[in-house]
Amino acid sequence: MPSLVDGYRAVIRGQVQGLGFRPYVYRLARSLGVNGFVRNSVRGVVVVVQGRLASRFLKRLRSSPPPLAVIASFDISRVRTRTYPEFSIHPSNSERGAGVDVLPDLAVCRDCRREISNPRDRRYGYAFTNCTQCGPRYTIIERLPYDRPNTTMTDFRMCPRCQGEYADPDDRRHHAQPIACPDCGPKLTSLPASSELSALDAAAQSLLDGKVVAIKSLGGFQLACDATNDQSVRRLRRRKHRPAKPFALMCESVAVCRRFCRVSATAEATMRSVAAPVVLLPKSPRPTIRVADSIAPRNSRLGVMLPYTPLHLVLFDRLRRACGRPAVLVMTSANRTEDPIIADTGELAGALPGVYDLVLSHNRPIANRCDDSVAMTDSHGPLVLIRRARGYAPRPVPLGRLFHVKQPVLAVGGESKNTFALASQLSAYLSPHIGTVATAAGEQFWLETLARYTEWTGIRPQVVATDLHPDYASTRLAERLSRDLHLPLVRIQHHYAHILSVMAEHNLRGPVLGIAFDGTGYGADGAIWGGEILLADGLTKWLRVGHLGYLSLSNAGDEIADPRRVASEYLGQVGGKMGPGTRKSGGRSHNQGIKSAAGLTAARTSSVGRLFDAVAAITGACRVATFDGQAPAALEALADPSERGDWYTDGLLDLSVYPARLLPEPLLREVARETACGTAPARVAARFHNTLSAATIRLADALCAKYGVASVCLSGGSFQNSLLRRQVTVGLRSRGRAVYVNRLVPLNDGGIAYGQVAALACAQRPLASL
Ligand SMILES: [Zn+2]
Ligand SMILES: [Zn+2]
Repeated sequence: MPSLVDGYRAVIRGQVQGLGFRPYVYRLARSLGVNGFVRNSVRGVVVVVQGRLASRFLKRLRSSPPPLAVIASFDISRVRTRTYPEFSIHPSNSERGAGVDVLPDLAVCRDCRREISNPRDRRYGYAFTNCTQCGPRYTIIERLPYDRPNTTMTDFRMCPRCQGEYADPDDRRHHAQPIACPDCGPKLTSLPASSELSALDAAAQSLLDGKVVAIKSLGGFQLACDATNDQSVRRLRRRKHRPAKPFALMCESVAVCRRFCRVSATAEATMRSVAAPVVLLPKSPRPTIRVADSIAPRNSRLGVMLPYTPLHLVLFDRLRRACGRPAVLVMTSANRTEDPIIADTGELAGALPGVYDLVLSHNRPIANRCDDSVAMTDSHGPLVLIRRARGYAPRPVPLGRLFHVKQPVLAVGGESKNTFALASQLSAYLSPHIGTVATAAGEQFWLETLARYTEWTGIRPQVVATDLHPDYASTRLAERLSRDLHLPLVRIQHHYAHILSVMAEHNLRGPVLGIAFDGTGYGADGAIWGGEILLADGLTKWLRVGHLGYLSLSNAGDEIADPRRVASEYLGQVGGKMGPGTRKSGGRSHNQGIKSAAGLTAARTSSVGRLFDAVAAITGACRVATFDGQAPAALEALADPSERGDWYTDGLLDLSVYPARLLPEPLLREVARETACGTAPARVAARFHNTLSAATIRLADALCAKYGVASVCLSGGSFQNSLLRRQVTVGLRSRGRAVYVNRLVPLNDGGIAYGQVAALACAQRPLASL
């Protein structure tokens, strides 16, 4: 029997695996001369230590963990253990449980970048270089714990040199699970294969020739082409049947990006972060690199990201050598419209025939598909997420303490920009952006991702949350799951979920005044809501205390509406006339619209998104829309920033009724009247923004005073419009109101699942705690 000695056992949970945690523990233990071991388990990192300095070691580890770690809990217990002659790293055990967070993919780090560009380094130009501080994580993990055999690197046998680095506790790649080098790791291939050129050179050559190249990236394929070549961009649009939706760009550095965009300090920090999302940046007024106008037509911004994998880095390096100047590439997800991103080479050929000319692929499989994330920043505001995916998911989003989830929840989210959330206690595990679940491929992706999340988090939901909308595909999915799993189903009103998503992020008890402006959401009265002012508190109580007045609209529930049709139907009701610019094309289709609309059922709607659509059509900013949010973005881009005027009249608000009204009729009449008198469309667009913001501020302020509320929460897709968001925020703050906006989850419907979780957390809260 070996003798037992006193020691400590620590279990550390959170984001603690896959970022060099164990080597860090090892080095710290060695430096203090304590013995024992560290081990990954599915419940967290387990450390057993003994020796005179054991408690000091634990204190130090707790106070200064490795830089990328996020510790959720650090539990220490005294134990009797056998004697360990030294400190070592033990292999993981494979018990089941939960407590470890799977890490998101991490953008290539500075050290790896240096090696890739150093001709004397053995990883010079190697497209799969990574270390404990960077590289793929989420997209290669099949099972926990996070060890190489549980990832898609399992079939790559380490060469002796990689094996040496992997085993050496003093090496940067100690226990870096995706470790690889040109001798033993994944390899690039091109399809069709070239006999003369390497895969990389063939891809670079094709791009310079104006061709479209499909690139296997981290979470799926991307379609790339030369962004300065208008013909190439137009060809890609034609082939992909994507007439106008902006394409994301990639360029090698922030310095290159500054040559065609304005990059604020916050934007730069975001682009350079380990998440490295696409950041929407204002177009530069005096660009020295001209990207094609067809990249983001009638939009004031361009979405740009930096190379986040070594593969992207070496490709840009090759392009610069070949043409002597920095390249800017379109880098858009390869998918069929609405469907999820494609991760499989075979599927690519079937789904996108004739879209690309060459494939730059490799043999490291993608375990979990993940799109690029999209964020935007204001000149004086922090980050706003538009799409939360690569670099963020599957990291949990914390819930404020007031929104503690006692019974684990599955929230299925909304209809468009869908994400789901599995939540327990103070963590909501939000899926990456799924998109739509209304297609077979979308539903499949949703179910696959849910299965992975359930396995990893160990969360077994006891209740399912969904939207109030009876016809959402996500609602049907929720109904099916609730039936199959015998779980209660709770339906949450869309705009209440939007406001709760802000409250849960900022831990607001309420009551707050919530302003939820978006395209469509099913209202409690059966109308299509989208311009809502709610009085909300954390008691699952909410009152609709104000809204944009109803207009009637055929097909009001559509996510994408035809701006011309909305304009003509609205103007018909408010007694306004289409401007001269719209009469030529719009006037004719006005009549056609009514004929074809004869069979459609008109619904009442308070949608702010549709109001923007109508104004975009009247002013000529956008008459035909092919994607959600196109017309509002065009109207924002058109607005003259120097125009300060508005049409504000007292007639815009009706505070004598309940709920209070913001009246759309006078606004629409003014837009039509000014356009008809020939006022410059840029001025009309600006005045519309100014007027809507001023009326919203005035209405919200009056309601705050009436109900004795000091805080206002803004959410909903219409607030992606930075002009509206900034004006309303600044206006309310200047009146002494605290204003809160989503920061951690998207303010569009990508944040609905998180809000649904918050609603159930409120419902579960015992009255005593209030
Ligand atoms: Zn690295
Ligand atoms: Zn190797």
